[in-house]
Amino acid sequence: MTITGTRPSGPTAVYLDHHATTPVDPRVARVVFETMTNNFGNAHSVDHIFGQSAAGLVGRAAVQVADFLSASPKNVRFTSGATEAIRIALEIAVSKRKCLKVGVSRVEHKAVLHPLLSLERQGRATLVWIDADSAGRIALEDIKSVVEQDIDLLCLMAANNEIGTIYPIREAAALAAKSGVEILVDATPAAGRTPIEIDAWNIDYLVLSAHKLYGPKGAGALVSAAASADDTIAHSGTLNVPAIIGFAEACRIHASEGPAAESKTEELRNRLETALLNMVDDLTINGDRQNRLTNNLHISAPGAPNDAVISRLERKVAISTGAACASGAQEPSHVLRAMKLSPELQETALRISPGRFNTLEEIDYAADQIASAIADVRAAMRTRE
Ligand code: PLP
Repeated sequence: MTITGTRPSGPTAVYLDHHATTPVDPRVARVVFETMTNNFGNAHSVDHIFGQSAAGLVGRAAVQVADFLSASPKNVRFTSGATEAIRIALEIAVSKRKCLKVGVSRVEHKAVLHPLLSLERQGRATLVWIDADSAGRIALEDIKSVVEQDIDLLCLMAANNEIGTIYPIREAAALAAKSGVEILVDATPAAGRTPIEIDAWNIDYLVLSAHKLYGPKGAGALVSAAASADDTIAHSGTLNVPAIIGFAEACRIHASEGPAAESKTEELRNRLETALLNMVDDLTINGDRQNRLTNNLHISAPGAPNDAVISRLERKVAISTGAACASGAQEPSHVLRAMKLSPELQETALRISPGRFNTLEEIDYAADQIASAIADVRAAMRTRE
């Protein structure tokens, strides 16, 4: 039987979980399909025109991804996503030294934290932590003081995938370069939403992922001069050419339409935020409201545990309690813990993330549904007392 799937639907199923993944732009889906059917050659099969044609497409994709991030195309190394790109970057950084001393923020994604903690357990890395404040912000003075502690590598994300706070990457990269420290920037949620200039800002390793940019899952990149010079570490297997071409198309679309699409997303986010503030008593907005991603709204509704709210919304509005990998496990968010939010605010936290294909009607419907789910849970909690 052919495995197929229809779009999940409920009474009105509205997708507001774009931090977890974005829907694929139909224009991207078209080039993925065309590449898959017309250019099926293995890009490493350089002996015939099928392989050469696929390799040619990958080369053009590298130019498009590089243009998007103001980098050199020769430094783009395609991967299966950000997680693999981070692992390759760390492997290259660690291979240069006996023990890598890493400055790392406490709010990095687990895709960065897990391999670093594993390297630390193996005695191949030591970690120096950089704290965040209650809005998830990281002070430049704290970055400077860690950079000056004789570290080899600084790991700082460009923006946070839970609370949306944007970090001062340009300034951090300048501090790192001044001290001869390499910098690894996880730009997964930020690429296309905040300015990034890899070459001009002296970023040593930058990672991103297509599926956060309306591209396909299973494609990402490590952009790094060190990675392009090193083909001994994590030699790439057969390239996923259709996904790579889809990724490049997503970057092309974002480069030309991104600013307008992001300001539309911001308007939708602000409309939702205003509606929820009006409808829900004691609502807290988490993160830095002055400096956050356009697609991020992170709230806490005291008295309404988030799992109960989410389960009431399951078939109506897709939102989450935090990072996609953590939400399934129901473990407390390390980001909210790093921000030292009260247990009450952590347990009632909801991440809502609109995107460019949402409509005003969807936002208004979602606001009503989220507010009534919170009211319902609060009422149920009161009757239990
Ligand atoms: N880094 C951040 C900040 C993320 O949000 C994610 C995914 O949610 C990743 C890394 C992992 O990306 P990928 O799914 O491409 O491996």
